[in-house]
Amino acid sequence: MRQLVVAARQDGEGRRHGAAMRFRSSSLLALRTLLSGRPPARREIEAFRDARLRELVRHAWERVPYYRRLFGRHGITPRDIGGVADLAAIPTTSKKTLQALPAEDLLARGVDAERLVAHRTSGSTGLPFTVRRTWLEERVLNAFRWRALRTFGLRATDRRVYVGISRPLDPRNDRLPQRLLHRLGFRPHTIVDCHQPVEAIVRQICEVHPDVIAGLSGALWRVALSASAAERRLLRPRFVYAAGEVLTPEMRRQIGQALAVPVYDAYGSHEFNLIAWQCAQTGVYHTCDDLLVVEVLADGKPVAPGERGELVGTSLHSFAMPFIRFRLGDIVTKGTEQCACGQPFSTIRAIEGRMHDFFPLPDGRVVLPSAIVGILVRHAPWLGEYRMIQETMERIVLRAVPLFAPSVAEIGRVRGMVESYLGAGVRFEVELLAEIPPDPGGKTRLSRSLVSPIYDGLDWSALS
Ligand SMILES: [Zn+2]
Repeated sequence: MRQLVVAARQDGEGRRHGAAMRFRSSSLLALRTLLSGRPPARREIEAFRDARLRELVRHAWERVPYYRRLFGRHGITPRDIGGVADLAAIPTTSKKTLQALPAEDLLARGVDAERLVAHRTSGSTGLPFTVRRTWLEERVLNAFRWRALRTFGLRATDRRVYVGISRPLDPRNDRLPQRLLHRLGFRPHTIVDCHQPVEAIVRQICEVHPDVIAGLSGALWRVALSASAAERRLLRPRFVYAAGEVLTPEMRRQIGQALAVPVYDAYGSHEFNLIAWQCAQTGVYHTCDDLLVVEVLADGKPVAPGERGELVGTSLHSFAMPFIRFRLGDIVTKGTEQCACGQPFSTIRAIEGRMHDFFPLPDGRVVLPSAIVGILVRHAPWLGEYRMIQETMERIVLRAVPLFAPSVAEIGRVRGMVESYLGAGVRFEVELLAEIPPDPGGKTRLSRSLVSPIYDGLDWSALS
């Protein structure tokens, strides 16, 4: 937010400066709630959401070119949006729409893009995309995640391991306050790269001797099933929590049984950070209602509790790059307006998010599709929406909608890189399509293996 304030001062416009100060003060209010450790009352959450939404819409209308045009086309002004009840007047926005626009259309005027923390998604969502936030916005969103993890039993000094995709630390996201906290014993997590052979992953986790193990659901599942009895005895975390991919009931049961600990699930996305986390008492998901407004829509209309629909989110803490009625693409089952445990949060019963099978290879390795997507995201700037399918052990096909037409040589170069990663005898084919038909039932099977399917035949009604 500081960048916003600085930028507003440079603009020399008192009105903008005032708006920026309001953003900052309401962020501090949210932080105070988070630091107190107790959830706010439901009516406090509702008042906060209404006030914050009015600020957000005015800000987007005044300063963000994409939303200015969108509101203009539909005759919407900030006066039309008094709170969450009026949100439906604003059209939804898809990831595909934002992906096709230049960054300056999506960022608030006056924000220095060079100083923002950039999250280039690994493509695990099927649509590579860059999300940008200020350093302070990052801290606020992470504070919500901390609040959720504390309900699982996380303590500030816990040793934590995260089994996931290892990325270099963005220097814009590592400032003095974090370094001081780490020096004081508030520990950052150790990242163990999930693309390594599972034996190496298990060994590295054992070396840390963690209090808490977190990670991508599929990677945790492989770890739990692959660890030897001796390693399991060594690994005595208090709990495990999964994030990033769908955790099926069977995966949860097997991880919990193998490691003899409770297993929780957290649901998030790059655009919003935490969206929902599992209630330790009831098993349903608490929606992070003071971080974002979640709508569950089918054919553009809100569904009733117990019904499935697409998740559409509005972030209440992202002003550098706002997300207003953003269609995430995940299908969820709406829950009750408040959890039976007494917490003030609305609920989601089940999440049908990102599903990635593993790809077993002829040389005995089992690779995660995200390793291939990592190569593509780095070396194929033309990659838009995609699906990847392992048809046989020797043949993997990428079906992609290009953002711009790549040359034959560019495709050949990327194919060569992926094939050299996959090893001898495995072909990697690229098929360019004008569009990708929706997956049956609205599910998102981004990477599917016909050789070793994890998610085939999953009964989603059993989750609800
Ligand atoms: Zn609950």
